[in-house]
Amino acid sequence: MEVKGLFVSSRLMNLETTEIVKKLLASLQKIVIVGHKNPDGDAVGSCLGLSFFLKSLGHSTTVIMPNEFPDFLKWLPGTEDIIIHEKETVISSEKIENANLIFTLDFNSLDRIGDLQIVLENSTAKFVMIDHHQQPADYAVATFSDVKMSSTSEMVFHFMVALGQEDKLSKEIAINLYTGIMTDTGSFRFSSTSPTTHRVTAKLLEAGADSATINQNVYDTNSPERMKLLGVALNNLHILPEFSTAYITLTQKELDDHNFKKGDTEGFVNYALSVKGIIFAAIFIENKKENLVKISLRSKGNFSVNDFSRKHYSGGGHINAAGGKSSQSLNKTITEFISILPHYKNELTNA
Ligand code: 5GP
Ligand code: MN
Repeated sequence: MEVKGLFVSSRLMNLETTEIVKKLLASLQKIVIVGHKNPDGDAVGSCLGLSFFLKSLGHSTTVIMPNEFPDFLKWLPGTEDIIIHEKETVISSEKIENANLIFTLDFNSLDRIGDLQIVLENSTAKFVMIDHHQQPADYAVATFSDVKMSSTSEMVFHFMVALGQEDKLSKEIAINLYTGIMTDTGSFRFSSTSPTTHRVTAKLLEAGADSATINQNVYDTNSPERMKLLGVALNNLHILPEFSTAYITLTQKELDDHNFKKGDTEGFVNYALSVKGIIFAAIFIENKKENLVKISLRSKGNFSVNDFSRKHYSGGGHINAAGGKSSQSLNKTITEFISILPHYKNELTNA
């Protein structure tokens, strides 16, 4: 059954920017699509969704990720063809050298892609950015940036509509975009989830994305080790009621003891945020190999963890979800974190 009525406005994408991309796509292109380092559901889902879409228009596409993505995404249609730059550097660099168009998805600056940065900077291809993070860098001939969007995956849908190609929505595209939207909105819980997000999601369901199957594939495929690691993380939960703040730590040893794999700690920080009265949550994860502490920050309301992360952890993200890193030891990082909080007492207690 065909659904009538214009539920989703193509005006969500800037008209001038859309014209630039239409012209670029008017002839067949060799396209590379890149997501950010430590790719999450939105990075992988949006890149694969876009790739299937551009293929349906006749273009040749390659999806490249800076490093490995979590196992709970490995069932997504198209994952088998993703090139991991860290593992397949030569072929990845070749693909980028030969590309005449590069889409960068779900990140706002080329320093978010690790070793791929230099390869992209040396490329002569034209760039198109589709992203929903704050403060986008200016390197693309066409920048679709909307910080109000739930996810880059939602933006890829609007992108298809803006190009007048909504009828190209296939089951493969729908599954990938649904997964990206679902994971980036915390299963449609975060305030970035708009009525339009739900309208888009409805279209994806109609196009063949099966919500129950996707939920099971993403959320019900935990390894026993991951669940035990969650137990350790919850045990390491510290509450600072005077700052409405909670944080979790994980040492390298705790990760090693539980056979840590990429993606295993995804979502742990949300447990800290779920404590009643908490509006600021953090997780500090030791990474001995990279000699740093990876930090994830979450908040509720107006307290901007994007600002906090930019200021203290050379990071960024969104108002309510951001990440960064510290090159100090785990202990020093925590001591400093606690010493910074009094400067934010007003914001944290009046948020
Ligand atoms: P997560 O905490 O789940 O790794 O990331 C939360 C959000 O912050 C995501 O949108 C992610 O892209 C962004 N983010 C995570 N780490 C960094 C970082 O080191 N730098 C910047 N600029 N953004 C980050
Ligand atoms: Mn995203």
